[in-house]
This record gives sequence, structure tokens and C-alpha cells, in this order.
Amino acid sequence: MTGIRAAHEANEPCAIVHSAQQAASNRAFVQHALSLMKKESARSADTHLLRLDVPAFHGIEIYFKDEAAHPTGSLKHRLARSLYLYALCNGRLDSGQTVVDASSGSTAISEAWFARMLGLPFIAVMPAATAPRKIAAVRALGGSCDLVDEPAAVHARAAWHAERGACHLDQFGLAERATDWRGNNNIAESIIGQMRLEAHPEPAWLVCGAGTGGTSATLGRYLRYRGLNTRLCVAEPSGGAFAEGWKSRDRHVHATGKTLIEGIGRSTVEPGFVFDVVDAVVEVPDAASIAAACQLVDLLGRRYGGSSGCNLVACLHLAAQMLARGEQGSIVSLLCDRGERYDDTLFCNSWRAQRDIAIRPWQEALQSALSEGRGLMLAT
Ligand SMILES: *Cc1c(COP(=O)(O)O)cnc(C)c1O
Repeated sequence: MTGIRAAHEANEPCAIVHSAQQAASNRAFVQHALSLMKKESARSADTHLLRLDVPAFHGIEIYFKDEAAHPTGSLKHRLARSLYLYALCNGRLDSGQTVVDASSGSTAISEAWFARMLGLPFIAVMPAATAPRKIAAVRALGGSCDLVDEPAAVHARAAWHAERGACHLDQFGLAERATDWRGNNNIAESIIGQMRLEAHPEPAWLVCGAGTGGTSATLGRYLRYRGLNTRLCVAEPSGGAFAEGWKSRDRHVHATGKTLIEGIGRSTVEPGFVFDVVDAVVEVPDAASIAAACQLVDLLGRRYGGSSGCNLVACLHLAAQMLARGEQGSIVSLLCDRGERYDDTLFCNSWRAQRDIAIRPWQEALQSALSEGRGLMLAT
């Protein structure tokens, strides 16, 4: 697996012959793996852009891109595809090599799925406290889970595997650069293409959350690249590190609270958080995000996770501002993952009660916001 690096380092003729063979076999593997990735991509359809019907926001259309529709159920399907391509095209991934990443959520599931497709062993490094359901999901895809007691130690443990020869996909380190922000059917190009026949094809706002920061970086860069006037809003659990860092432009800040919403609201400023392409951050209390995830069932007839709810609240906030200013236009956001994953948590009454999460007042506020064209009372 270190064939290419060895070719630079070794001076002895026999080592050069050996490493040349390794390099040739890595090329063959990369070609094979890329053809598998291309086939997967050819079998896949683009995700739908769904339009919400909210007559109270007259002249303002709200759309949601259904990223839960990917084969692995979340927007991390795109990220996993990009991380594998990036590792392959950098010559960092070879036949039979173990793949590792630190993830306790959607990323591990998507990465395990691609590892199985490529015939590679996969290890997800997770905190020992991770929900048994998620551990089971990775194992069902043929991956193994390396459980560590200390949640903060997962990155060091993934690096430990990499030192022993595994390929570290490194979602938090590489998300923002592994995605081709100029296009290549990234999420931004897809959204703008799908908007082409709408009343307001150039959205006033795109709204997304920030976990690795990869999605917000790709969207923000693409908007500038295409010369669009669309602004980018990050919907963030109240007090999350992106919000704190964005306000102060300080990469050393920490979150002021801990969120129950998975996938977003990181405790520290991740390397992929690109502050300068983000025009607004809307902070959403967890109870409001959960209430909004419940509301999405009424609006779309399907369940989505808490980060999708968080996006909905931010969309309503922006729509209400536009309405108040007499503006018209479109707002586009994302449905990030499937709600079924949260049967035992966000959608479970006793789970919420144990954590003192009261969603009833937020549900009422959401209903009147939707019927009267208002936002929710939020700190921004
Ligand atoms: C990862 C994730 C996000 C945030 O996306 P990034 O591109 O990592 O910033 C939002 N929601 C869910 C469910 C996620 O898994």
C-alpha cells in the first residue's frame, strides 16, 4: 500500500523494481475501484427537490432537497463517495487495505457501504456510548466497530489505525477539500439545476447545517463560482461552535452547550468550517428542531431527522424576514437523513421527557408560523 511513497524513498535497484510493481498494481486497483464507483454513480438517480406548500408566505417558495433518498439514507452518501474518490486518486488506498474513520453516525454507515462495494475491510472508530442500533447498522454492512471509552479520543484512535497501515478517510479533516466545489454534480450544482424552471430560479437563500462543514463550504463556494446572488445561511443548534466561531471569526472557540441533534452543532470549530462563505447563522433550540422534525411529517408525509427540522426553522425565520420586507423569492434547504433512525430518541416521548425537552409549545408556534406567515422567536 505504500508503493508510491516507497518508490521515492528507496535507492536500491531491487527496491525500485519492487515498488514499480506495487505502483502498477495500485494503478490497476485504482482503475478497478473507479470503475465500480462510476457504476454506482450510474445506477443512482439524483435526489428530489421537494416544494413545500405554504400559502401564508405569499410570493416566497420553500424547497427541500431530499438527501435521505440516497441508498445509505443521508447526505453522507455524497461525502463518503467523495472521500473514497479522494483517497483513491491520491494513491492512498490500495487493494485489500483496511479503511478507517472516526464516526458514530451517518458517515460510518455510508463509508461501510462503499467499503463493502469496493471489497475493502472497514473500521468505524466510535465512542463506546454509541447507540447499539448504529453499531449494528455498521456491522450489518460488514464493517467493524472499534469502541473507545473516551469520545474525544476517536481521532487519535483512527490515526493509530492509519499508522498501522489503514487508510484514514478523515471526514472532519478532508470533507471540505474532497468535494469538487466547481460542479461535477455536487449538491450545489444539482440544486441550481433543479431550480431552473421555478418562479425564482436563483434562490434568495440556501440553508444547511454544519457538521464537517463540507456541505456549507461546497454550497458557498459554488454560489460565488457561478456568480449568483444567493446567500448562504447555516442553521445551527443554539450555541454550537460554528455559530460562536462565525460571530467572532475565532477558530479556537468552543460550543456553549451540547446539542441532541445529530450530525450538526459540533463542540469545536472543525477544519472544514469555512466562515467567509456564510452570510448568516440562525441558532435554533433543540426543542424547536425536534418539533420541526415532527412538523415535516405533516408537510411532506415522511419522517426526517433533527437536523432537517433545524433547517426548517431557519427557513421559516428567513421567509418571515423576507415577507416583512416585502421581498419575494425562493429558499432552498436540505432533508439530511431519515427519521426512522430516531424512533428511540427524538420521536420517543419518554426519551424527550427524560431530557426535559418540551416540544408542544414549539409545535404550536410552528403551526401558527406556517398558517400566518411568521417565523419563530429565535436568538440570532
Ligand atoms: C453530517 C450531517 C449534517 C451536516 O453536513 P456536513 O456536510 O457534514 O456539514 C447534517 N445532518 C446530518 C444528519 C448529518 O449526518
